[in-house]
Amino acid sequence: MNSPRTVAFSQNAANVFFHILTACNLRCRHCYINPSQHGAQALDIDTIAVWLNAFAGKKNPPNVIFLGGEPTLHPDLALAVKHARRLGYQSVTIDTNGYLFHDILHRVSPEEVDFFSFSLDGATAGVNDSLRGEGSYNACLKGIRQAVSKGFHTSLIYTVSSANLHELEKMPELLADLGIHRFFIQVVGIRGKTARTAGPGPDRIHQVSPDPWLQKVPMVAQKAAMMGISVTYPRVFLKPGEAFACAGRVADNYFIFPNGRVYQCPLCEDYPLHSRVFENNHLISTPGINEADLFKLDIPEGCVMNRIIQPGNIRYLPDGSPEYRIACCLLKEEICGG
Ligand code: SF4
Ligand code: SF4
Repeated sequence: MNSPRTVAFSQNAANVFFHILTACNLRCRHCYINPSQHGAQALDIDTIAVWLNAFAGKKNPPNVIFLGGEPTLHPDLALAVKHARRLGYQSVTIDTNGYLFHDILHRVSPEEVDFFSFSLDGATAGVNDSLRGEGSYNACLKGIRQAVSKGFHTSLIYTVSSANLHELEKMPELLADLGIHRFFIQVVGIRGKTARTAGPGPDRIHQVSPDPWLQKVPMVAQKAAMMGISVTYPRVFLKPGEAFACAGRVADNYFIFPNGRVYQCPLCEDYPLHSRVFENNHLISTPGINEADLFKLDIPEGCVMNRIIQPGNIRYLPDGSPEYRIACCLLKEEICGG
């Protein structure tokens, strides 16, 4: 049996999560994009190049993940990939819903793109399409097969919520059948559309509570790893006595949006709490109070932003102390396949 290992925040490379536009052809019920906070424009290729330059040239080259919206809707995504390569980015990933617009598989090569990372939120069309929209399951599977047949490495992101936890255990067979190399299991966040539809009602999407999460996710990860697929999933709940660390204090992660905001913490993205911003194509620090002020706070519940925006996922003991601490959302468990 392969053992999971906790992946501490890397000190050796920066990760640049670059939202080059926020437009999308889908309308997922749990979409985290919030145009009023992130902007609605698509960045032109000159701006993309300048913003990529700002994070390049470090001793440890950064990784870049191109996202949207749907990044393949950008007509110049291939140029952005090639520019990142020229700048020496350590790896280039494209996150996609699978529709693969603008003939992207023919305009980049497996030498230029390390991974195409597909999003699918159900093992069947019934569950996936109820979350991501009619026809999105078949479109995603078609896109994966095309990418694999052209020699690209592929990964798949499954965002777990109360609406699809029950189909997670069917995923390893599907992944193996599709020829996928890496599997990322994520937790649905209370942000973007999920935050706006919070409260009772048919559209509500719930986070999964600790017991079902701990019963299901590590078991499915182990099963996928035994089939040769590497799996990464968030730690979410810290064990008693386990040290807490905030990635905002110790790691180099940058989440860039088309309106110029640059966040270090994904949980802050629904608020004007960004610690940096591009102004006239120069990257500058923002004045407080911003996310960096929150990173310094130590609280018994662990992650400060989780306590502020997702207090419902913390349980308390009769003496008022938290039953467990919530880990940084960027702290991951990893199981290597094989
Ligand atoms: S594919 Fe991504 S960006 Fe598009 S609606 Fe779904 S979650 Fe949002
Ligand atoms: S998720 Fe919490 S612990 Fe992680 S960077 Fe954000 S504030 Fe810090």
